[in-house]
Amino acid sequence: MTKWIYSFEEGSANDKDLLGGKGANLAEMSNLGLPVPPGFTITTQSCIKYLDNPDFFDSTLKEEVLKALALLEIKTDKYFSGEDPHLLLVSVRSGAKFSMPGMMDTILNLGLNDQRTQLLAKETNLDFAYNCYRRLLQMFADVVYGIDKGLFDDQLAAFEQKQNKKVHDFDLAQQQELIQHYKALYSTHKKQFPENPNEQLYAAIQAVFKSWNNKRARIYRELHQIPHDLGTAVNVQAMVFGNSDQASGTGVCFTRNPATGEEELFGEFLLNAQGEDVVAGIRTPEPIATLKEIQPETYQAFRDYAKILENHYKDMQDIEFTIEKGKLYILQTRNGKRTAKASLKIALDMVDQGLISKEEALLRVAPASISQLIHPVFEEVALEKAPFLAQGLPASPGAATGQIVFTADRAKEIYQEGKKVILVRQETSPEDIEGMIVSQAIVTSQGGMTSHAAVVARGMGTCCVAGCGELTISEENKSLSCGSLVLREGDLISVDGYSGRIYRGELPTVLVENNQDLQRLLAWADEVAILQVRANAETVKDLTTAMNFGAKGVGLARTEHMFFGQERILEMRRLILADTEEETKEALNKLLEFQEEDFYQMFQTVQDKPMIVRLLDPPMHEFLPKDSQEIALLASKLKKSPEKLAERIESLQESNPMLGHRGCRLGITKPEIYKMQTEAIFRSAIKLHQEGQKIKPEIMVPLIADQKELECIKEYLIQHIEHLFEQHGQKPFPYEIGTMIELPRACLTADKLAQEADFFSFGTNDLTQMTYGFSRDDIGKFIGQYKDKDILSFDPFQKIDKDGVGELMRIAISKARQVKPNLAIGICGEVGGDPSSISFFQDIQVTYVSCSPYRVPAARLAVAQAALQEGRN
Ligand code: PEP
Ligand code: MG
Repeated sequence: MTKWIYSFEEGSANDKDLLGGKGANLAEMSNLGLPVPPGFTITTQSCIKYLDNPDFFDSTLKEEVLKALALLEIKTDKYFSGEDPHLLLVSVRSGAKFSMPGMMDTILNLGLNDQRTQLLAKETNLDFAYNCYRRLLQMFADVVYGIDKGLFDDQLAAFEQKQNKKVHDFDLAQQQELIQHYKALYSTHKKQFPENPNEQLYAAIQAVFKSWNNKRARIYRELHQIPHDLGTAVNVQAMVFGNSDQASGTGVCFTRNPATGEEELFGEFLLNAQGEDVVAGIRTPEPIATLKEIQPETYQAFRDYAKILENHYKDMQDIEFTIEKGKLYILQTRNGKRTAKASLKIALDMVDQGLISKEEALLRVAPASISQLIHPVFEEVALEKAPFLAQGLPASPGAATGQIVFTADRAKEIYQEGKKVILVRQETSPEDIEGMIVSQAIVTSQGGMTSHAAVVARGMGTCCVAGCGELTISEENKSLSCGSLVLREGDLISVDGYSGRIYRGELPTVLVENNQDLQRLLAWADEVAILQVRANAETVKDLTTAMNFGAKGVGLARTEHMFFGQERILEMRRLILADTEEETKEALNKLLEFQEEDFYQMFQTVQDKPMIVRLLDPPMHEFLPKDSQEIALLASKLKKSPEKLAERIESLQESNPMLGHRGCRLGITKPEIYKMQTEAIFRSAIKLHQEGQKIKPEIMVPLIADQKELECIKEYLIQHIEHLFEQHGQKPFPYEIGTMIELPRACLTADKLAQEADFFSFGTNDLTQMTYGFSRDDIGKFIGQYKDKDILSFDPFQKIDKDGVGELMRIAISKARQVKPNLAIGICGEVGGDPSSISFFQDIQVTYVSCSPYRVPAARLAVAQAALQEGRN
């Protein structure tokens, strides 16, 4: 026979599924011998059964409740109904498996009615007894009948005014009259308060069951991905009264500081109050330290219990307590919510204190919270009051304030005046790079999480909000508008890269720095990791950052990023628009010079770590100017006719650039570019070899769809490399030529590609784009609606789509490893740095993930967690 109700002594902390978090912990604490008022828990299964068929309450549960109640009366030696002066009153509280603070309902002081309140008044005092009764009438009305609580407060205030007295000074007649006013509110709503305590209890339990499905609870569950079919348990517990007198009180306390992680009690309490008063914020609570002065013994007892609970649960606890006439009761404990900084400190301290293992510590810190340890965040209090402007995509974490500017040039100028700037663009392009570098944050009105602005900002560790469609940006008028509001150049805004929210004005930031602690945790992470973490980086600054954050190498150096900046882009444009062979050669030589120097420095920065250099990928016209003014300027620099130049640029435009003349297709039609890049790589490598640094260049060819493309490019690259060895009198040293896997066809023919490739790297940005057929730069325009309509629950450019893109990857890996069992296979698209995707990548047996430098620490922790989880399964 199913057991629907458990008394607290019958359960344990392991019974969260059945008894909910609160019930399981009440059971555990009772069994630990802590002073927990006795009670019983009605299981989550009962809730599910009831919601499915409400008759279950009368047919089955009612009888069980009565039995449990009878036992509780014996245990407490008090009575829930009748006229015995030993009154048992109970609380009825919800408690699901996962804590959903404040989302469901609670009723206190059940068991009072007109008659029993008089009895209670005799046993205690008038004010206290009627205070309890009024609270019951108010909560019951709200929870059971949905009558607005505020109406009762209004009644109280009106009646106090009429009597010209505060409620505490009312005599019996006045108290009773006020109660009649409260009951009249029930009548107005065509309801009645049940005088029979059992009826009160039945109604309360059913109302709490139903509150599982109230709107706010459903929204909360969706937000935290808690299943809707778990149900809530209901805890019925003997009341203890924090509102008995001045030696009574109630409070909430954390066993460690949830903001900093310091080992100190952190909490507050209110004298002569019930639990809801602390939450309601009507009276200002006292810090817990004050209790030490008022009731040193109670304080000491609380400290001892806090220690027992923390040692028992081996985690920081958030404890609710009540003091009744100087006696302490513990009403609830749960693992406390905390900031990223506190989470890290507590985990490390607990290892040092022998409470948890290093592995447990690694599982305690959320990878997503790591970014808060290395970026500034807005002060929480200021954020609450900040004037909200608009919402975009949280493309790169951070918090920044500055003056808005609308062009990269203005960003540089204002920056040079020593001011903080925020670059606001429709979308950024390679030419904006210098402006982006000097900006505190970047905001775009178009583009998604893998747009230029987003990728570059993340690479630089600069805060960025992308695709903020509510903003209309006019470069010409130097203004942005959002609804009827217009902001102009120089106006201040604050950008929150964690939430994607933008605010007007300046907000204070705090830098949460805890690098020593972080390094310690991440060193443990590396010990257990199965997957390696590399970085996507190509500038010395980014490479240095990546290495400092512990990247094991570079999974992707995008060479096109090395052509950003005024001088280089000019040579690139000269090359693309060259009319003669001589012009082509001249531009190539210039670019070769730049690239050789770049690679030399890059190899020096990464030292003996591997670095994969990807040959040029984007379509050529991305490097070309668009508006006539810029074209005229370029024409004069290149000494060409502006009209002809404009025509030439026009002819290079493509209908579908992402599917166009890009990636290896450039390598096939314009081998001179890939040869130049390879020459730059090998010249610098040869130089370094001759200086004693043994490096093994790894070259990667993008956007391969067919084995023959790779064969063709490899053939001329190898020839060129051999020629370079000979030309420089260098004994050949090992190198590798691999391919990106970015197209569904590449996945399906991976066995053939593996014959040619020394390594694979999944470009999941393009692979997702090509698999879904979603433009990676335009997804921001419709993803919101897709989520609202439950078509997609996440953006597949941010988190791996296991069923589609992931399945293609799985097929590719299995086919490739049949040909080359030890083939190194990485992931260098954005999802490579997404902690929630990493266990999937481990499952399909990739070798490493590669992500932007600032995501490396979180990825190191996520790969460790994936390894530990695998060990546990
Ligand atoms: C990719 O497509 O995932 C990738 C890493 O290449 P890019 O983003 O440069 O196209
Ligand atoms: Mg790509």
